Amino acid sequence: MKRTALIAGAGIGGLSAAIALRQAGWNVRLFERAAAARELGFGLGVAPNAIAALRRLGVADVVLARGFAPTRGELRRMDGTVLKRLELPAAEEVLGGPMVVALRPALHGALLEATGLDAITFRSEVTGFTADGDRVAVRTASGHTAEGDLLIGADGTGSVIRRALHPSEPPPRPCGIIAVRGASTAAHHLGDLSGVMYLGPGLESVLVRAGVTGVYWFLSLARELVPSDTRDPAAILAHMTPRLDATFRAVTSNTEELRCDELVDRDPLPRWGEGVVTLLGDAAHPLLPHTGQGAAQAIVDAVTLGRVLGDGANVADALQTYERERRPKTAALVAQGRRTARVMRTTNPIACRLREIAIRLAPVELTVKLYARLNRRAGTDVTRPT
Ligand SMILES: Cc1cc2nc3c(=O)[nH]c(=O)nc-3n(C[C@H](O)[C@H](O)[C@H](O)COP(=O)(O)OP(=O)(O)OC[C@H]3O[C@@H](n4cnc5c(N)ncnc54)[C@H](O)[C@@H]3O)c2cc1C
Repeated sequence: MKRTALIAGAGIGGLSAAIALRQAGWNVRLFERAAAARELGFGLGVAPNAIAALRRLGVADVVLARGFAPTRGELRRMDGTVLKRLELPAAEEVLGGPMVVALRPALHGALLEATGLDAITFRSEVTGFTADGDRVAVRTASGHTAEGDLLIGADGTGSVIRRALHPSEPPPRPCGIIAVRGASTAAHHLGDLSGVMYLGPGLESVLVRAGVTGVYWFLSLARELVPSDTRDPAAILAHMTPRLDATFRAVTSNTEELRCDELVDRDPLPRWGEGVVTLLGDAAHPLLPHTGQGAAQAIVDAVTLGRVLGDGANVADALQTYERERRPKTAALVAQGRRTARVMRTTNPIACRLREIAIRLAPVELTVKLYARLNRRAGTDVTRPT
C-alpha cells in the first residue's frame, strides 16, 4: 500500500515536495492556510540549480518558456548616472545551465498544474502535530486531523511545525532591511535592457524583465530610510521615488499590486526534524534574498527528499540522510546572504564609495566567476542539483 505524506504549506517548497514524493511512489496531501492557489504577481530569479531540480520534477521547460533570460543590464546611481553596462554571458556557458527571471505565478502555476488541485486542502491552517512511532497526525485550525507516514513543514519563515519541533528557539529577527516588491507591465521603459540595478546609500533596487511584457522590481531599503515605521508599500514607494531616475519612476508607476516585507533572519538549526517529521524551504532555512537562492533551495530540498524516500526507505533514516545532505549547504548560504546584505544595506558614505569603485572596476567575467564559485561551494551548481 502507498504511504502518505502530509505537507503543511503549498508554496514553492510544498508543491515541489508533493511532486517529488509522488514520483517516489507516495500519496500526498497538502494543507494550505490561504483560501486559494495564488502567488502575488511578483518575480524571482530561477537560478541554474533550481532549473536543474525543476527538470527532475518535469516542469523546467514550462518555467523556461514563461521566464526571461537576461542578457544586458545597467548599474546606475539613484539619479540615473550609469556606473556600468553589462553584457551578460549565457548562463549555460558560465554556470552550466540556463537561468531565467520569472513572475511568481509562472513558477508557482507550473508546480500547481503538476501537483493537481485535488491534492490540496485550502483554508486549512495547520496548528500542530502529534507523532507516534512511524505515524504522524496534523491538526488544523478548523479542528480536523489527518494521519500519515511523514510530515513535512513547508510552511514558510513563520513555520508552525518548526515552532512545535523547536519550542525554545527565538522567533525570526528583523535584519534591518525593508523590501518593497511589485510587478509592472511596462517593460518597454527598459528599452534594449533586460534589467537595471540601482545602488545608493542604504538602497538597492532592481528592475528586470520577467517574461514578454512583465517587469519584476524590488526596492530594498535600510530600515532607517523608511519614515516612521510605516510598512505601507505605496507610501514607502512615494517617499523614495523622487530620489530615483525616470526609468524607475516609469516602471514602478505601472504597478497594480505592491507588497512590503521586513526581511528576517534565523540562525541555522543543529537539526531540523525528529522521527518522521521534517522541515523544508524557508521553514528549515530562511535565506536572505541577496543569495537569490531561497526558492531554489526549497526546490532542491524537495528533489532530495524524493530521492531519499523512494524504494520503501525507512522514513526516519531517510530524513536523517536528507538533513545531513542539506543542512551544511543551506547554512553556508545563510552566512553568504548575511555578508552580502551587510554590504548592500550600508549607509556609510565611504563604504558606499568603495563599493561603487569595486563594482565599476570588476570585469563582468570576474563577477560571473565569483558567482559561479560561490554556487559551487554551496553545492548550488547544476552539476549537483540534489
Ligand atoms: C524580497 C524577496 C526576494 C526574493 N527573491 C528570490 C529570488 O530571486 N530567487 C529565489 O530563489 N528566491 C527568492 N526569494 C526567496 C523565496 O521567495 C522563498 O525562499 C521561497 O518562496 C520559499 O518557499 P517556501 O515554499 O519554503 O515558503 P513560502 O513561499 O513562504 O510558502 C509557505 C506556504 O505555507 C503556507 N502556510 C504558512 N503557514 C501555514 C500553516 N500554519 N498552515 C498551512 N499553510 C501555511 C503559506 O500560506 C504559503 O503558501 C526572495 C524572497 C524575498 C522576501
